[in-house]
Amino acid sequence: MARRTKIVATIGPAVDSQEMMDRLIGAGVNVVRLNFSHGSAEDHLQRAQMVREAAAKHAKSVAILGDLQGPKIRISRFANGPIKLEVGDTFALDVDFDKDAGNQDVVGVDYEQLAEDSAPGDHLLLDDGRVVLEVVDVQGSRINTKVVIGGPLSNNKGINRKGGGLSAPALTAKDEEDIKLAAKIGVDYLAVSFPRSADDIYLARQLAQQAGLKAHIVAKIERAELADDHALLDEVISASDAVMVARGDLGVEIGDAAIIGVQKLIIRRAIALNKVVITATQMMESMIEAPMPTRAEVSDVANAVLDGTDAVMLSAESAAGKYPIEAVESMARACVGAERQPLTSAHKYDLDGPVSRTDEAIAISAVFAATHLDGVKAIVALTETGTTPLWMSRVRTSLPIYAFSRSESTQRRVSMYRGVKAISFNLAECSHDNLANRVIAELKSQALVESGDIVLLTRGDELGAVGRTNALSFHKVQ
Ligand code: PGA
Ligand code: MN
Repeated sequence: MARRTKIVATIGPAVDSQEMMDRLIGAGVNVVRLNFSHGSAEDHLQRAQMVREAAAKHAKSVAILGDLQGPKIRISRFANGPIKLEVGDTFALDVDFDKDAGNQDVVGVDYEQLAEDSAPGDHLLLDDGRVVLEVVDVQGSRINTKVVIGGPLSNNKGINRKGGGLSAPALTAKDEEDIKLAAKIGVDYLAVSFPRSADDIYLARQLAQQAGLKAHIVAKIERAELADDHALLDEVISASDAVMVARGDLGVEIGDAAIIGVQKLIIRRAIALNKVVITATQMMESMIEAPMPTRAEVSDVANAVLDGTDAVMLSAESAAGKYPIEAVESMARACVGAERQPLTSAHKYDLDGPVSRTDEAIAISAVFAATHLDGVKAIVALTETGTTPLWMSRVRTSLPIYAFSRSESTQRRVSMYRGVKAISFNLAECSHDNLANRVIAELKSQALVESGDIVLLTRGDELGAVGRTNALSFHKVQ
C-alpha cells in the first residue's frame, strides 16, 4: 500500500465537471465531502453522481461525506456593500434589525438568542476572527460593542464567541432538510456541525434513520466546551462513529495556540475509543492561490499523520481553489513522507483496558501476530460491516490491512480508515476449505503479494455472519 493516511476532499465549483472529478479521484482522494453550507440540492445530487462515476472508472472505493451546516451564527446583510470597521469604533449587532439594511453602525443577526447569550466583556469574533468586537452592553435586542480588531466586514459572515458558550441547538430546520437530501444521495458519512453533547449525535442518528439513511455519523469537534471538558469530549466521541478535528471554528473559539495540543488530544481519544478521526481545515490553505504548499503546510499535514489521524481534509483548496488536483497530490506526498518515518510505523499497543468482545480480541491479536512474525506481508479481514478492519487499524502497524467484503457500502466506508484497503469479494462460492486460496488468488491478481509471502486471515465459523469473527490463521503464498 503506497499511502496509509486517507484524503478527504471537499468538492465545489473548482471541480464541477466529470473530467475534473475523474482527475481528482485519480490523484488519490478517498472520501469526497459535500458541504451543505454552500450550493443547492441539485448541485449536490449532480456532484455525487459524478463522484460515483469517477470512482467506477478508477475501480476505486470512494466514500461520500455529507456535512450539515449546523447552527453557524451569522450577521445579516449590508444595504450598500461591505463596511470597514476601525479599532475603537462603536458597532452594534441587533437581532431585530432589518436583515438587509446593515450599515456602518449596526447590522442584523440571524440568531434570535444572541442578545440573551451575550454579556459585557464578551469577545465576538466575526469572519473567523478577522474582526473582533467587545461587548459593551446589551439593550433588549441590541448588542452594543467596541471594535477591538478592525477590518472589512461583508454579508453573512460567521460569528463565534471566544470561549464558546453560544447555545444554539446543533440541528436546524435546514439540517433536517439536508438529512433528507443526504438520504437521497446515499452518503456514507453524515457530519454534524457544532454538537454540544452526545444527545445531538443521537438526534442526528435518529433523523438519519427516519430518512432511511444508514450513514456513519461524524461529530465535528468545533466548540470550546468540548475541548475544555474531557469527559464531555469522550461522551461525544463515543456517541459517534467518527470525529473531525474542525480546526476552523475550534481555532477561533479556543485560539490558534491551543489548537495543536487539542488536535493531539482528540486524535488520541478517538483512537482509544475505536473511532475514526479526520483532521481538517487550512491544511494546504495557500494552495487556494498557489500551485505549491508552504513548508509549514507540509509540516502540518505530516504532524497530523504522526499524531495518528485516519484522514486529512481539504476544504476550499479543492472546492474553490485554483489548484485542486495539485492540492491533493501535494497532500498525498506529505502523507507518504511522514509515513516513512520510523516514528509512524513503530508498533504501538495501547492495550491497558479490557476488551469486551471476542471479535475485537481476534482483531487486535491479528495485528500483533502479523507484525511480529517474520514474512507476513498482508492482513486480511473477511468483513460484513467493516468493524474488524476498524479495530485492526486502531493499532499502529506498517502492514496493509485488506478489508474483503461483498458489501459496497462497507467497501466505501472503510476507505476512510487508516491503512485499510477495500477489496470487493464475493463469498458465494466460498467454503472454509477453499477460502484462503481464493483470498490469496485475489491478492495475487492485484499484485499485492507474491510467492513466499505470508498472509494472515481472520474469519468467523459461519462465513458472512455479522460480529462472529473468531479465528485467525496464517497462509503461505505459493
Ligand atoms: P466547516 O467545518 O468547514 O464546515 O466550518 C470545519 C471547521 O470548522 O474546521
Ligand atoms: Mn466549522
